[in-house]
Amino acid sequence: MSVKTSVIGFPRIGKLRELKFESERFFKGESTAQVLEQAAKAIRAYGWEKQREAGIDFIPSNDFSFYDNVLDVAFLLGAVPSRYADLKLPFIETYFAAAHGYQGAAGDVKALPMKKWFNTNYHYIVPELSDTTKLVVAEDNKVVREYKEASALGIQTTPTVVGPYTFLRLATYTGVKRAKDFLAEAVVAYATLVGQLAKIGVQWVSLAEPALVFDVTAEEKAQFVSLYKTLLAEIRKNTQVKVALQTYFGDVRDVYDEVVALGFDGIGLDFVEGKRSVELLAKGFPKNTLLFAGVVNGKNIWRAEYAAKNVLLDEIKKYVPAENVVVGTSCSLLHVPYTTELESALAPEVKNHFAFAEEKLQELRDLASADASALQKNKELFSSERVKADKKVQDQLAALKENDFVRLPLFAEREKIQHESFKLPLFPTTTIGSFPQTKEVRANRAAYKKKSITKEQYVAFNQKKIAECIALQEELGLDVLVHGEFERNDMVEYFGGQLNGYVFTQNAWVQSYGTRCVKPPVVWGDVSRQSPMTVEWSVFAQKQTKKFVKGMLTGPVTILNWSFPREDVSLKDQALQIGLAIREEVLDLEKNGIRIIQIDEAALREKLPLRRSDWHTEYLDWAIPAFRLVHAKVQPTTQIHTHMCYSEFNDIIKDIDNMDADVITFEASRADLKILDALKAANFRTEVGPGVYDIHSARVPSVEEITNALEKMLGRVQKEKLWVNPDCGLKTRGEVETRASLANLVAAAKKLRENHK
Ligand code: GLN
Ligand code: ZN
Repeated sequence: MSVKTSVIGFPRIGKLRELKFESERFFKGESTAQVLEQAAKAIRAYGWEKQREAGIDFIPSNDFSFYDNVLDVAFLLGAVPSRYADLKLPFIETYFAAAHGYQGAAGDVKALPMKKWFNTNYHYIVPELSDTTKLVVAEDNKVVREYKEASALGIQTTPTVVGPYTFLRLATYTGVKRAKDFLAEAVVAYATLVGQLAKIGVQWVSLAEPALVFDVTAEEKAQFVSLYKTLLAEIRKNTQVKVALQTYFGDVRDVYDEVVALGFDGIGLDFVEGKRSVELLAKGFPKNTLLFAGVVNGKNIWRAEYAAKNVLLDEIKKYVPAENVVVGTSCSLLHVPYTTELESALAPEVKNHFAFAEEKLQELRDLASADASALQKNKELFSSERVKADKKVQDQLAALKENDFVRLPLFAEREKIQHESFKLPLFPTTTIGSFPQTKEVRANRAAYKKKSITKEQYVAFNQKKIAECIALQEELGLDVLVHGEFERNDMVEYFGGQLNGYVFTQNAWVQSYGTRCVKPPVVWGDVSRQSPMTVEWSVFAQKQTKKFVKGMLTGPVTILNWSFPREDVSLKDQALQIGLAIREEVLDLEKNGIRIIQIDEAALREKLPLRRSDWHTEYLDWAIPAFRLVHAKVQPTTQIHTHMCYSEFNDIIKDIDNMDADVITFEASRADLKILDALKAANFRTEVGPGVYDIHSARVPSVEEITNALEKMLGRVQKEKLWVNPDCGLKTRGEVETRASLANLVAAAKKLRENHK
């Protein structure tokens, strides 16, 4: 008897990103809800068919979403703020209004906030519950509909739904009611849902509770237990449906004892990111319960090494009888691209090492069936050397010493030297780097890529843009200028594309949020710099002006976090390798007269481990040094900036300060200024530029508004340390509003200088 297999979720953006394109057409009013629904139906059918072909036993349904599965649950349970329903739009438009805002004849409402989904680059919509929210499951619901749709294709699926614990844990609460006040309603709603599913022939339902891999407090644990005790009892009272509790993105060490005692029919554990999952199993696993063993990595793009996976499975089978072990993915395959079949430009020797969603289905099959020839083929793949080590990089890495990570003189002294040397006015004004990427800018890059223009033509166009950009900034009166980043499509791809050790795909898109997808480059081998990557642009820009132009780089942690990392080398070593490459660039910029260098770490916070106890040991202890490595060797008269696209670093303030940059800019216009209170409390020494206006909208902030924001900041930041800048880069903005907004920003800074002479 072959072992059974399961999948937690399948990609849903469409193999050729059909959902993205169809949704965008719909948003623009170029198509109808029916057309969009047809496209969605085809995408779902495709995923189910692929899984059926691969012989997967537990195929999920309801893993599809038009935007996000957490938002789906909010709609399923009627937990949607009334401002959206009040628009009185058709269902799908109400749904999109909550997902990304609505402005039109029916009204004007902002979207619900969006947050990163655990430690992935996917973003979920944060549910908002108020005191009047009633959790009641809708009669006509998507879970039922999608199950029926699969049934009609002859495919028996396992409906999968984000469970009540995770839903309530991730929600925000606007009134006095909290998660605990919604437990009883949630139980009734989920029991009703399962009742509805029972009626249409569902045999298994999977409740996803990834929030159990966070640190769980005693109170949360009690809530989890009370929720599921009553929910399971309710379900058992009325139905025969089997219930699986699915966890992923880590282990459930804080609640394992409770999880195994509650009496689920199946329990899904992650054996890839769940470091302690095997250890937990050893404590005992209930009889007659299926273990959905997440052994095939749902997040990476590499082939699984069968020999290693079989060792893991054997280990697992020590504690769970083989007939109760289901071989599964560690998390939803949403986080990987569809298939390597679309990668026609990759050499077969490279492609062979990749397994995207569809290839992972085959891996599940191979592991479950223990197919001898598949095992043999896999063994051969892993016994041959995938990539040659780069001796030079390895030696450089090995030679790193303590002082490679320490910039001298220390910050306080440097700050003095820099103030004297740069002679910037109080409240220096600057921008984050990119200027509007107009059609022409993109067309120029595209034409060069397609080789329809020469390098000279390409460079000449960009130089013209840079010169104009510098002239504009001078005209506006900004103090520290940027070159505008017209040569870059993306802050990671631009560097990855020029570094040794990187591989690029053509179609390996992964959903980031809604219709937005990213195509992360792959770290294939040891990383090093081939030649200068930004120096010519920066030098050209600096030549256009007497003011300082910032060199503009992406930091090693962000480059790594937005890539698919390799797995045969630690993340730390990969970050340090990238760090060494960026360090060369920093030193080259400095050598070429660039005095201010910004090293963006837009994604530094993203990979912070889910458990606080792992923050330092598993991440910050190498991530912060990787950043320091990049700039430790510069002169005291070279000023290092960094930038972050968020201000949620309240709990890692010390670490941010320890990056030892001279200036940090971050997003602050939408948040309240709590972060500044925290900076003050922590005696933050780095100079700061909290963004004074939101760059996500075309709205032009008034001088008064910016001045007010700055005055508030001044209550919390020493005036010698305050910089004035927008939230983030301006590349998505139009030229008209950019000019107007920056003019107001400069006027506000001038006003502030008047007020605080
Ligand atoms: N320097 C980059 C820009 O301005 C930073 C982008 C980002 O932080 N995401 O576009
Ligand atoms: Zn940013």
